[in-house]
Amino acid sequence: MKTIAVIGAGPAGIEAASVMARQGCKVDLYEKQEEPLCNIRDKALLFPNFEKADTIAEALLQKLRHENISLISGHEVQQLERNKGKESSWTVDGRQYDAVILASGYTPFDAHRKEELGYGIYAGVHTSLDMERMLREGRIVNSIGDKPRRVVFLQCVGSRDEKTGNHYCSKLCCVTAVKQAIEVSKMLPDTEVYIFYMDLRMWGQHFEELYRSAQEVYGVKFVRGRISEAAGTYDGRVQIKAEDTLLGLPLRITTDLLVLMVGMEASDGTRKLSQMCGICGEYGFVQSSDPHLNDNSTLAPNLLAAGACKRPMTLTDAINDGRSAACEILCSYSLPLVFNS
Ligand code: SF4
Repeated sequence: MKTIAVIGAGPAGIEAASVMARQGCKVDLYEKQEEPLCNIRDKALLFPNFEKADTIAEALLQKLRHENISLISGHEVQQLERNKGKESSWTVDGRQYDAVILASGYTPFDAHRKEELGYGIYAGVHTSLDMERMLREGRIVNSIGDKPRRVVFLQCVGSRDEKTGNHYCSKLCCVTAVKQAIEVSKMLPDTEVYIFYMDLRMWGQHFEELYRSAQEVYGVKFVRGRISEAAGTYDGRVQIKAEDTLLGLPLRITTDLLVLMVGMEASDGTRKLSQMCGICGEYGFVQSSDPHLNDNSTLAPNLLAAGACKRPMTLTDAINDGRSAACEILCSYSLPLVFNS
């Protein structure tokens, strides 16, 4: 029986573990948090169809219930190295494996790094994660606990940004802002909702329709422009200085809530383990062998990568990528592939 380590119990790691376990591999699934799927459990509804995040999380957790899978949670992997004398097998924290899948995921950008936007300074400034929590709780309030009159979302926080050095697009924050704006509008129909954007990247299936309904059905106002500064007001609101780049005009607007749409960065675990094995690419994400033809393999034999440890990725893409990495391992051992659940 082949023994495989999967590092990271997010959607990619769980899917990979599940596929390999069902084909007869013994899988140890390492997770540094106490529970798997932290980045899904903190969401309310998922784009583009407003499905409950908990429903998807539960379906993924079901897949872990297999005798061949051992979940080792609350354990941060410290050692990942090739076995001496048997270079295509690996040691993970003292245990030997035939292959390893790195699925150590991403971390949300820390909005404190954009001081000029006032996160952690002004009570009315939140991140998209904070907003997701409010949506989960069904309670969206301003700094004094009242219903907000206005909510402003700001795109591209910590992505496409010279100052933070993250030049890449995080890919999911445009559609997340539109989804959250619709949810706020549904919950608080009298609240004005704005989205400040640089470009709207509604690239996925049904994303464009979501954007249209935000405008046409829910009256969300889209402003092309960047916010240069946010400051608190005496009554707990937030005053924003921005430029409307379509009209070429500076503008000021006061809002109850400013929601910063934070991007995705490589997690600390992804950076540490990929550097340890010489497979760390741009921005700390894992570098695959070939982004077109061999996107799960890395330059290290039998060390594969799956999911958002490689780049910003949707939940659907991460699940598919985990399955793809598992198939790659099974094919390399000529194990049969059976997809029945
Ligand atoms: S997905 Fe949208 S908000 Fe996110 S970085 Fe890309 S352009 Fe900016």
